[in-house]
Amino acid sequence: MEKIFNYINGNFVSAISEEWIDNYEPATGQVYSQLPRSKAEDIQMAYEAARNAFVYWSQLSTEDRSNYLLKIADKIEKRLEEFAQAESKDTGKPIQLAKTVDIPRAISNFRFFATAILHAHDEAYDMGKIGFNYVKRKPLGVAGLIAPWNLPLYLLTWKIAPALAVGNTAIAKPSEVTPYTAFLLAKVCDEVGLPKGVLNIVHGYGAEVGEAIVTHPKIPVISFTGGTTTGKRIAQNAGLLLKKVSLELGGKNPCIIFDDADLQRCIEISVRGAFNNQGQICLCSSRFFVQKKLYETFKNSFIQKVKTFQPNDPMLPNTSMGAIVSEMQFQKVLFYIEEAKKLGGKVLCGGEPVEPINERCKNGWFIEPTVIENLDPYCSVNQEEIFGPVITLTPFETEKEVLEYANSVSYGLSAVLWTQNLKRAHVLADQLEAGIVWVNNWMVRDLRTPFGGVKESGVGREGGIEALHFYTEPKNIFIGLL
Ligand code: NAD
Repeated sequence: MEKIFNYINGNFVSAISEEWIDNYEPATGQVYSQLPRSKAEDIQMAYEAARNAFVYWSQLSTEDRSNYLLKIADKIEKRLEEFAQAESKDTGKPIQLAKTVDIPRAISNFRFFATAILHAHDEAYDMGKIGFNYVKRKPLGVAGLIAPWNLPLYLLTWKIAPALAVGNTAIAKPSEVTPYTAFLLAKVCDEVGLPKGVLNIVHGYGAEVGEAIVTHPKIPVISFTGGTTTGKRIAQNAGLLLKKVSLELGGKNPCIIFDDADLQRCIEISVRGAFNNQGQICLCSSRFFVQKKLYETFKNSFIQKVKTFQPNDPMLPNTSMGAIVSEMQFQKVLFYIEEAKKLGGKVLCGGEPVEPINERCKNGWFIEPTVIENLDPYCSVNQEEIFGPVITLTPFETEKEVLEYANSVSYGLSAVLWTQNLKRAHVLADQLEAGIVWVNNWMVRDLRTPFGGVKESGVGREGGIEALHFYTEPKNIFIGLL
């Protein structure tokens, strides 16, 4: 059985306990590798390596740090095919998606922050004859970086790149469900000669190794992406130790379609917005609100398009939808479909696990893209995060009504608006409770912009200057001239 190793102080090692966790391929439902079941003792080892490396790394010139990160980006790019294959196998996502979104974005994360630090500058505040202040931004020390399973390398590198760029060292913990590309990243770091201990990657369960990172008294900063329940626990644990924390959490994102929408484009993009990565993107729209006059037309064209978006073996080049990441997630999605039926929901398409696609995938976790109507906007299926290929359609009449529906959930990550009416777009974008609003598009990302959620979708912002600020502490120095 292939083994995935921790990467600590530049060495590839198993957990001190020598215990292992099985790693599954979602498309086949079979175990294909094992990862270390690390614990607090492994985190202590990683912490010591990272703390020692901090002395050297934080004092390295910006240009030198930038060069290391650029070399990592170049190496991943050279091995894009291998990374994409690994990501697809580990997560069940279509190989095409891994090749065009996940891995290219991981490369961009390194390039973006490697070059951002070359242009960053500090502030100064002139007080005339009295003197002046200048502000230095200092790295914090050893950063704890915890990532989920849906975009494994994409989100892990979104944290690693800025944390290292500004001079921190790090302990990164990938999801135990999708550890493989983090292991490949460790190999790349080794190949480019990243100094020992600058980046440590430690695998294992969240409740064990994740918790050990968050409760380690000397790790001053935690960046976490994952579920809201986990986020609350992390906030509690980190709060007791007064750590700096960034939490990117769950969502239940609305997509609002007015009857003046460019329908063809809206449908084309909305199908991806609902079902890309099997609906397992925190930014996927899961509640579609369609203005009454357009409702039936939208519904019919949308369903037709959804039927062309069917699950298949993720390793095939033309597959647009793959497998659900784990059996647990598979059961959770089916539970919500049953719940919707009990609540009077009408399943317009999908609603079932997919019959075996081919021999290889006969035990895989596949679910048809599912569209449900006739549910109360305030029922559990419309309020709780499902994080799978299930969306609901609800008609509305007025802006006021739809705004109320959209903002009724405890989450506030993203929202989509389809309208040609400029005034309405601006007014509603302002009033929607979300960290990001797309008007007439979905998931267009500019790495310079702030990213994060409101309400139970998160605390803090990352991306661009926000990330550079999050991973540093400003120090004000006053120079007296009197
Ligand atoms: P999760 O919360 O179960 O796990 C996320 C990570 O936290 C994993 O690495 C896990 O091992 C670790 N973890 C679990 N318990 C921990 C603890 N007590 N202390 C420290 N670490 C712990 O989430 P998931 O199921 O892997 O991911 C799906 C969730 O992530 C969804 O809710 C989704 O909306 C959210 N998500 C949010 C964003 C965003 O940017 N807001 C992006 C992607 C995913």
